[in-house]
Amino acid sequence: MLQATMVEPGRIVFEDVPKPGMGKGQVLIRVKACGICGSDVHVWRGEHPFTSYPVIQGHEFSGIVESVGEGVEGIGPGTKVTVEPSIVCSRCYPCRHGRYNICDNLKVMGFQTDGCHREFFTVPAEKVVPVPEEMSFEAAAMVEPTAVAVHAVKKADLPQGAKVVVLGAGPIGILTMQAAKALGASEAMITDVVDFRLDVARRLGADYTVNVGREDVLGAISNAFGEDKADVIFECVGAEETLETAIQRARKGSRIVVVGVVGGRPRLSVGLLQDRELEMVGTLMYMRDDFLTAIKLIDLRKVTPTEMITAMFKFRDLPDAYREADENRGRNLKVMVEF
Ligand SMILES: [Zn+2]
Ligand SMILES: [Zn+2]
Repeated sequence: MLQATMVEPGRIVFEDVPKPGMGKGQVLIRVKACGICGSDVHVWRGEHPFTSYPVIQGHEFSGIVESVGEGVEGIGPGTKVTVEPSIVCSRCYPCRHGRYNICDNLKVMGFQTDGCHREFFTVPAEKVVPVPEEMSFEAAAMVEPTAVAVHAVKKADLPQGAKVVVLGAGPIGILTMQAAKALGASEAMITDVVDFRLDVARRLGADYTVNVGREDVLGAISNAFGEDKADVIFECVGAEETLETAIQRARKGSRIVVVGVVGGRPRLSVGLLQDRELEMVGTLMYMRDDFLTAIKLIDLRKVTPTEMITAMFKFRDLPDAYREADENRGRNLKVMVEF
């Protein structure tokens, strides 16, 4: 079987290796589809702080169960599945208190441990999540990013009929917008600097789109939601400018959910956070429940992640898929790889 190792930034080596076996409690999966996300591109560019080389990437994927190891129950060969790509310790404080997404010893497949860029992949049975038979492999591969959005929306603790603003219309921003509307928000605004992304967001249910290159967010929020402004702001960029916008534009006493991965140490108006009793909360990854909610929302077509697929590549052309995702951000949302 074919396996793709990133040996250094920007260089992938394909090898023909024996099909892996599986031990007790493990499941062997025939990989069918895998998305490339922003974090993968960071690894491709050599800019990911927590990944070393060589690494086999791939963490948002789907496939078919090929066979199961001793002691595995409830999943059999032929089942269509996706996988929660987190390996956790079950011993640390967060793990013991039902928050294994922030495990002290968290390892993510494709970053700190091997991922799915191979035709067959062995994973622990408890990480395997069955999906409905009629769900496409592409949609099933996008359960993972959808679960990120679902978890973020749960952290927001939306009041019924909430009005929300999402800063950043990348895949996670658009999924967060859709998940928020599916889970209680009545109206959603989304912002970006790329019109193409805003057009997709509008088509997928955003009530208001704002190009912040041309329009100020505060004016747009007041026009759309009136004096009461937004109940929750989701920051889905991870940049100083958008984090500061969230603090500056949030209604007093409202909540900001930081979904974007923040690099460096941004300078922010923490004084306003205090003075306005803003609640700023972080969100990371997901848990099994978020995967199950994500599957339900996709199945009900309340969240439509495959509408964001802008390019498809064969596994053989994986380096081209990375190049497309890296170099043509203006025309891509999700680059998908087929096996
Ligand atoms: Zn990802
Ligand atoms: Zn742990």
